[in-house]
Amino acid sequence: MGKTVTTGYINDTIHGIKVKSGIKCNAGNLSRNAGRKVVYVVMHYTGNASDTANANAKYFSEAGRNASAHFFVDDKEIYQSVKLRDTAWHCGAKKYYHTSCRNSNSIGIEMCCTAGNYKISDKTKENAACLCAYLCKKLGISAGEVDKYVLRHYDVTHKNCPAQMSGNKKEWTDFKEHVRKILGSTKKAAESVTQTATGTNQNEYLIKITKKTTKVRKGPGKKYPVTAQVHAGEVYTIVKEGTNNGIKWGELKSGAGYVRLSHAKRI
Ligand SMILES: [Zn+2]
Repeated sequence: MGKTVTTGYINDTIHGIKVKSGIKCNAGNLSRNAGRKVVYVVMHYTGNASDTANANAKYFSEAGRNASAHFFVDDKEIYQSVKLRDTAWHCGAKKYYHTSCRNSNSIGIEMCCTAGNYKISDKTKENAACLCAYLCKKLGISAGEVDKYVLRHYDVTHKNCPAQMSGNKKEWTDFKEHVRKILGSTKKAAESVTQTATGTNQNEYLIKITKKTTKVRKGPGKKYPVTAQVHAGEVYTIVKEGTNNGIKWGELKSGAGYVRLSHAKRI
């Protein structure tokens, strides 16, 4: 199991969020590789009272942190701080509880404490599940293999991380179920997003992109700058509509911007 990874930064849009890699981890906080075999994805939380992906990327861009992670996720942004082929220092320990997951064969994702009070918000969990599923696809981890290869820091070293998902907490099984659904089928993925979406706003609905590639713009119209691109088959939650010159645009829940609704179908 596992894939040899030579990719640096992923430079892609996940769940309507363009992954940022402009704030790089300090070279002293990681191990460089030309390529490495990656088997596991390890989930963490930042363990701060409240923070953002941007603030974490900045923090680890400074020397002497003696730790790092590949990704930081919050409600609106995803920062990639360490290249996939490089080893981030996210789950190292003197004593391991997992037989084979180590820094050298894993990718570390930090979920920020966006809900305050040392807690990860639902939106951050949703974005992190989409990133996790994206990486699973890249590594060849199928829906049926999620339990084996998607781990918590807790599973590797018994550290209480992410705190709200440690031990037998249901939040962890729910998180993995979300990842499985995204990997399993688009229909199932849509259902899982619906469950998240309907809890907050009844006007929200789901779309599936039908055009091969379409631009996400800052506002509802072609005059607005492009913030990201989305692709055929991807599913998004629309929270608001806008019309410009008779053309309908829908605002993405992620906050990334608007897409032309004629380039998607409602599901
Ligand atoms: Zn951790």
